[in-house]
Amino acid sequence: MLKVSFTFLLLLLNGAAWAQQRCGTVEYMQWLQKEGKIKQTDAQFEQWLEHKKSLQFQQQQSARQQAGPYQIPVVVHVIHNGEPIGVGRNIPDAQILSQINVINKDFQRLNADAGNTPPLFSPVAGSMDIEFVLAQRDPNGLPTTGIVRVNGGQSAWSLSQETTFKALSYWPAEDYLNIWVLNFSGGFIGYAQFPVSTLPGLEEYLDGLAETDGVVVDYQAFGSIDDGSFDLDPNFNKGRTLTHELGHFFGLRHIWGDNLCGTDYIDDTPTQRNETTGCPVHPVSTVCGTPIITMFQNYMDYTDDACMNLYTQGQVTRMELILDDPSVPRRNSLLSSPGLLPPDCGVLDAAIIEKISPGPVTCGANTQLKLKIRNYSCDPITALKLNYSINGSAPLTTIFTGLNLIPNAVAELTLGTVVLTSGLNSLATTITEVNGIPDGRPDNSTLTTNVLVDNTHERIPLRETFDQLTWPVINPTEGTLWTLNPTNFEQSASFRAFDAPDGPNESWLTTPLLDFSTTTTASVFFDLSYAWNGSQNDRLRILVSEDCGNTYQNLSPTPFDKSGLQLANTISTEFWQPIVESDWQLRKFINLSNYAGQEAIRLAFVFTNKNGNNIFLDNIEFFVSEDPHPVDIGDDLYSVYWHSDFEASVTFNLPERNSVRIDVMDVMGRLYISTSAPDILNQTFPIDIGNVAAGIYILRVQIGSKFYATKFFMSR
Ligand SMILES: [Zn+2]
Repeated sequence: MLKVSFTFLLLLLNGAAWAQQRCGTVEYMQWLQKEGKIKQTDAQFEQWLEHKKSLQFQQQQSARQQAGPYQIPVVVHVIHNGEPIGVGRNIPDAQILSQINVINKDFQRLNADAGNTPPLFSPVAGSMDIEFVLAQRDPNGLPTTGIVRVNGGQSAWSLSQETTFKALSYWPAEDYLNIWVLNFSGGFIGYAQFPVSTLPGLEEYLDGLAETDGVVVDYQAFGSIDDGSFDLDPNFNKGRTLTHELGHFFGLRHIWGDNLCGTDYIDDTPTQRNETTGCPVHPVSTVCGTPIITMFQNYMDYTDDACMNLYTQGQVTRMELILDDPSVPRRNSLLSSPGLLPPDCGVLDAAIIEKISPGPVTCGANTQLKLKIRNYSCDPITALKLNYSINGSAPLTTIFTGLNLIPNAVAELTLGTVVLTSGLNSLATTITEVNGIPDGRPDNSTLTTNVLVDNTHERIPLRETFDQLTWPVINPTEGTLWTLNPTNFEQSASFRAFDAPDGPNESWLTTPLLDFSTTTTASVFFDLSYAWNGSQNDRLRILVSEDCGNTYQNLSPTPFDKSGLQLANTISTEFWQPIVESDWQLRKFINLSNYAGQEAIRLAFVFTNKNGNNIFLDNIEFFVSEDPHPVDIGDDLYSVYWHSDFEASVTFNLPERNSVRIDVMDVMGRLYISTSAPDILNQTFPIDIGNVAAGIYILRVQIGSKFYATKFFMSR
């Protein structure tokens, strides 16, 4: 079992009762480590940095390298709640520009209040040759303002929702500094992700972090009143929250070292007893062994915005070390980001994003071929010419005119009816022309996928124990398939991501077409085993098709979509194979009553292989009830449960579906109750014995052609 600590969240709840805290970076990083998202401790990072510093010192001795100039491409994701642009959480462009202005001035020590740095500290004040620029082109090469506005559909966000709000809008952190601006209810106004080191042996833990890398700032602490009358917190209204958080982003620690008289690993900042709040008057002295004048003006303290005004030279050197090192992920790579270049408008390019229909496993031999197309050009697309070919046959052409597909927009196009053969098919699609001329980037304009035509039928209740693999499996891109592998349940369906030679790609395991038409309630239980390797987030989704496999959707009302740690019952970097029951997540439950009454339901277990570790599925059992806690009778074929003197129920647990008859008779063989049903597997039947007189009776159960009997005494 995984134990996830919620200490940090509790801390946040407590914190929320007080005034807003300036920064949550240290707590955030501790939380990430407890969540298993980072393996490296702070001490290890510092040790690595010391090593690097000594190396750099040697280099400087010989080469006198000059750090910078640096250019950092920035994307600001404004997560609002449906307000018009410029209102409330949907802050105006001018507020964003004022914030970019602040960080450029602060880092370059061109801030208007630099003169407020006391003479005691001005000799160590540092200037960094760095420029933050809003990205000019987006990850697709198209023009952008570097500002993305997304309606997140809620008024405030907490830390536990960070995966959700960051996924609303994210650009690859290798190429962009992601800044999310939203109404943050976590008790503090900003936090950042520290850079990740490449200490030997820790490289494998780097992958999981890209999607959360960047800075989060509350919308009322983002921007400066020096450039406009924005709605900002009076204590944090000069844009220093982002200055501070970017310090963390480039590897700086708080000036008091997050400890009583702790170290920030910087030589030219005074040791400080603890954080400063508000806006004190210089000089302020504290005692750490000896009396010390605190540098509360430092951006890495907690002082109000108006009273901060410097980074030191030591801090600048440390940030430059991080930026200069190509082995630190997602810092050095920013300097050569295509996001810094002008948009790439030279070509007309449409791309095939995905095939919507038919799905990877379908029963349709005649089915609509439907694609999702995206415009990756700077100009609108009005006409497209596409080819498609089935199993290598001569290509058929479809021409679309009268389109109005603006840059970056997505369209769904139906190319025609495709005739597939039973079994495996290969479906090749190509965009050949855009606006009458050849597509400018052919590499994203073709898609070839496998489609399996399968018409096997089954009905529920149903139990699949994978003694043999009879369910359809397919990898739409010809990669590794689900197979059977040995476990403590003999054989289990599994995908071996640990040693799969390909990936990332999707591998599908689907049920036959399942008849749900004889029931008004339905559910499924299954056993799942997956080990997370600490970095590669393999993913399992369970999808459903109600149109014979032409299209697949998330389960309703509750989707099943888990990856990495969420999906796992353990963490292991070794080849994973469950060998005892405790290696499994047993009897996971999904209510399927939404699909009851339909004749052809197909479930798909879709594994996204990120080359992490192995996943196993077994004992997939469908019920015609929606009880999440059905009666468990162990290995018995059936079991009688007396609810009262008048009421009993019989629960079955048969190896396979069978017809069943239940008789209640007296010792003379006179029949009092007789009921029978086909297709019994795991159902429970109530028996009303209210009418019989006191005496001895026999409960006889017939399963298929076999009889079982028990005597019981009815007292009245
Ligand atoms: Zn901080």
